[in-house]
Parts: sequence; C-alpha cells; structure tokens
Amino acid sequence: EAKRDPGTSYRFYDRQLHISAGYQLRLEADLRNALRGSELEVYYQPRIDLATEAVRGVECLLRWNHPQRGLVGPDEFIPVAERSGLIVPIGYWVIEQACKRLRDAHELGFPGLVFAVNLSFRQFHDRKMTETIFRIIFNANVDTSLLELELTESAMMHDPEYAQRCLRELNQLGISFALDDFGTGFSSLSNLQHLPISLVKIDKSFVQDLGHSPDAEHIIRAIISLAHSLQMSVVAEGVETEAQLEFLRQQHCDEVQGYYYARPMPWDELVQFLNSRDRSACLRK
Ligand code: C2E
Ligand code: MG
Ligand code: MG
Ligand code: MG
Repeated sequence: EAKRDPGTSYRFYDRQLHISAGYQLRLEADLRNALRGSELEVYYQPRIDLATEAVRGVECLLRWNHPQRGLVGPDEFIPVAERSGLIVPIGYWVIEQACKRLRDAHELGFPGLVFAVNLSFRQFHDRKMTETIFRIIFNANVDTSLLELELTESAMMHDPEYAQRCLRELNQLGISFALDDFGTGFSSLSNLQHLPISLVKIDKSFVQDLGHSPDAEHIIRAIISLAHSLQMSVVAEGVETEAQLEFLRQQHCDEVQGYYYARPMPWDELVQFLNSRDRSACLRK
C-alpha cells in the first residue's frame, strides 16, 4: 500500500517520527522532574543460591511511577536517560538507595544480603564515577563487600584500560563486579579475565530458549564451565520454569534469578518475602 502512494506514506512516517521525537523530549522533561520529585522507586529481585536455596542477594531495578502513565519499566526510559545524560545522577541515586537498604537489611536481621546495582555505559564513563561512588559508600558507611555492580561486556570492553583501572580501584574498596547479560555481546570471557569480575550473569534469552533450541543448552554449559574455570560464579537470569531450574541445577549453576522464585518487588514486599523464608538461609555464608 505504501508503495502505491508514496506521498501518503511519507507524511505517515514523518508524522510518526515527529511524534516519536516529541515523545522523547516529553519523556526526558518528565524524567528530570521524576528525579527531583519522588516518582522513581527501586524494586528488588531476589537471587537464590541453588545449593542452599538461600536468598544470596537482590538486584536493584529501577521503576518510575509516572503520574499519568503509571508504572514505567526501565527498558522504556533508560535509553532516554542514557541519551540525555540523566542516567548519571539517576544511577548515583540508585546506589544511594541500595546503600540505605543495605543498612536496613542489616537491622532487620539479614546481614549477609548482597545488593547488586546496574551501571550503564554512560555512567561507567562518567569522569567522576569512582570518586562519586567512593563518596556515596563513605557517607553511607556500609559493608562494601555486600555491594556489587553489574556491567555489560560492551561497557567494559569499550576502553579496556579505563575499565581495568576503575574496576581495580572500586574492587580495592571492597566492591565486586558482575558481568551482566553475558552471551549477547561479542567479547569472550578470556578477554575479561584480567578484570576483577567475580560473577557472570547468563542472559535470560538463553535460559528462555532452553527446551526450544539445543544451542541454548550448549551455550549455557559452556558459559558455566568457562566461568567456573576462571573462578567466577554464575547467575542465570529469567528462570521461570521448573525445567529450566532443573537443567541449571544439573549444570552446577550457582544462583538463579527469575519469576519462578520471585519478581522484582518494592522494598516492603521484599522484607515480607525474606521473613517468609528460612531466616538462617539469608545469613552470610
Ligand atoms: P538486567 O540488569 O538484565 O535486569 C534483569 C531484567 O530481567 C529485569 O528487567 C527483570 O525484571 C527481568 N527479569 C527477571 N526475571 C525474569 C523472568 O523470569 N522473566 C522475564 N521475562 N524477565 C525477568 P527490568 O527490571 O525491566 O530491567 C530491564 C533492564 O533495565 C535491566 O536489565 C537493566 O539493564 C536496566 N536497569 C534496571 N534498573 C537499572 C538501573 O538502576 N540503572 C541502570 N543503568 N540500568 C537499569
Ligand atoms: Mg542487571
Ligand atoms: Mg541481565
Ligand atoms: Mg538485560
């Protein structure tokens, strides 16, 4: 149809582009307000140790309670935040929240819970990154060994020397690092072995292909065995079914995260979730 009437299709696409650009700008302005107000909220998704069934930690996942649009997920606004640079202050705010909850968790009797925070590409390349994170954890006075930062391969491999310097500096403060969405990028684990990375997170796309594609099984097996040979732990993301869990257990995957056990949830719900489970299971190993 579009081919038969190029004039119409042009206007159509032009209008779409226009709306889309306007939408972006609007979203950006709203996001700026959201950061100033109290529309941003951190949700927490438990990570379960497969050997002990203990909650080893939680991943901090950003949510936006938009006054008109309702709950907006990060896939919709992180790209906007990234392009506008707003991800930098937002990202530091998430680390502050994580530190605050880390202290709360300690007081509530879950002293060994690990808090994992995602760092975007742009935030990782902020010139004041290590300095700012240092200031946040110093002010919060938390046990930094319970703080983990998640980075993707592309964020780490863009400038390997820079990555090495930053990761080492932060690692010396006690912070550990996880490689997020592993398997979707182009680097290999051996490229990353000189970096202080203690954990690899298998991207949920592989987990969800289990049972549908034999490749997924091979890839997951390979990632687990390579990670273990490099003394890294492995977390599988996006575990939704018993069958996926069973396969991962057989492959000696260390931890799982996914709807099968729990969805990301607000802090109060997380506290209920932790209380409903065996308390000793949440203590430091
Ligand atoms: P991610 O870091 O890979 O986080 C895991 C995503 O998988 C989360 O999506 C989580 O809700 C989802 N997930 C967990 N278990 C399951 C499951 O069983 N099934 C399915 N279908 N999905 C599951 P979410 O919360 O929408 O976040 C999307 C991405 O946004 C994150 O991917 C992360 O890259 C980014 N993000 C979230 N919060 C932050 C943040 O504070 N800062 C930055 N820079 N990025 C963030
Ligand atoms: Mg993550
Ligand atoms: Mg991930
Ligand atoms: Mg992801």
